Amino acid sequence: MAEKRDYYEVLGVSKDASAEELKRAYKKLAIKYHPDKNPGDKVAEEKFKEAAEAYEVLSDSNKRAQYDQFGHNMPGGGGFGGGAGFSSFEDIFKHFGDIFGGGFGGGFGSSSSRRRSGPPRGNDLQIKVALSLKEIFEGCTKKVKIKRYTPCSHCNGKGGENTKTCSGCNGMGRIRRASGGFFNMITESTCPQCNGMGEVVSNPCSHCNGEGRKHTEDTIQVKIPEGVAEGQYLTLRGEGNCGPRGGASGDLLVVITEKQDDFYTREENDLHCDVKVPVYKLVLGGSQRIPGVDGTEINIKLAAGTQSGCTLRLREHGLPPLQGRGPRGNLFVNIVADIPRDLSSREKELYKELAEIRKDKDTAEEESLFDKIKNIFS
Ligand SMILES: [Zn+2]
Ligand SMILES: [Zn+2]
Repeated sequence: MAEKRDYYEVLGVSKDASAEELKRAYKKLAIKYHPDKNPGDKVAEEKFKEAAEAYEVLSDSNKRAQYDQFGHNMPGGGGFGGGAGFSSFEDIFKHFGDIFGGGFGGGFGSSSSRRRSGPPRGNDLQIKVALSLKEIFEGCTKKVKIKRYTPCSHCNGKGGENTKTCSGCNGMGRIRRASGGFFNMITESTCPQCNGMGEVVSNPCSHCNGEGRKHTEDTIQVKIPEGVAEGQYLTLRGEGNCGPRGGASGDLLVVITEKQDDFYTREENDLHCDVKVPVYKLVLGGSQRIPGVDGTEINIKLAAGTQSGCTLRLREHGLPPLQGRGPRGNLFVNIVADIPRDLSSREKELYKELAEIRKDKDTAEEESLFDKIKNIFS
């Protein structure tokens, strides 16, 4: 398959195009490449489908946000459109029927005389996955259990063998109702008896009561790219509930949550940690090992006289950027003096000796502080 074109480019709009601009751009292309106008023209057909797919994603604010973030390289085997996109023109009209206002594309499809909308699409489902920092760092594949509707295997999702025209809507799939009253509005809605399909099953499958789908619990694998963050989500197309009686499946949204880490806190792709360092190392200098987010050890060099509370920045020791865009985050190590409380008598002796040696210097420093304050008040 050829390289996928950028959706904005497909529609010929800018990245910040409004919903109205998107709609206009899509409508223009849809009319230009409409199969009725270009019979047998494969190129037009591809263009028509390409535009529909682009509009399908960009007209949905969630999908658009995700596309802006991930582009076509959607992780998790999901992706936009792709193989799971629209398989036929009918699909497209089903999906975008409203954009054409009914006056367009109405005569298209297998049931040209009826305006049946076909079996409804299943609902989207949402699931949360909690990731450790290490999983976020490396990217991972998660097994998730989902409860969803899948097609009934006994009737192949059809709900039964024989169908008959729905008596509720005479096969139209929609019913019109006059409200009466002063304005006598006429409203049209999906027929509840046949769910808009125009047909009902005459001998319903006993395993699914004619619904064509059953509740199942499935385990699926979700590939999560490195560098994701709390609240971001992946869309797995067609992994949601399947629709009744052969209706298309909805999507599964996998929402990322972060497990709290014992050692690190995260700020975008930077990491922060507190590291306790023995006093003598701060005084004399030395090295200190800390666990890196990738599981390796990081050896930090401390200069003699390192102060407690100071922060060291280790460049690009943080989290990787999503999609490899930009550099890796930094690691900020906050140094905390580890003051011993369990001194042996020997250590105590040595500290006392140190105190004795430093007494004059430290007293002088104390005095100078008081002098400064006195100067302020005098
Ligand atoms: Zn069945
Ligand atoms: Zn009906």
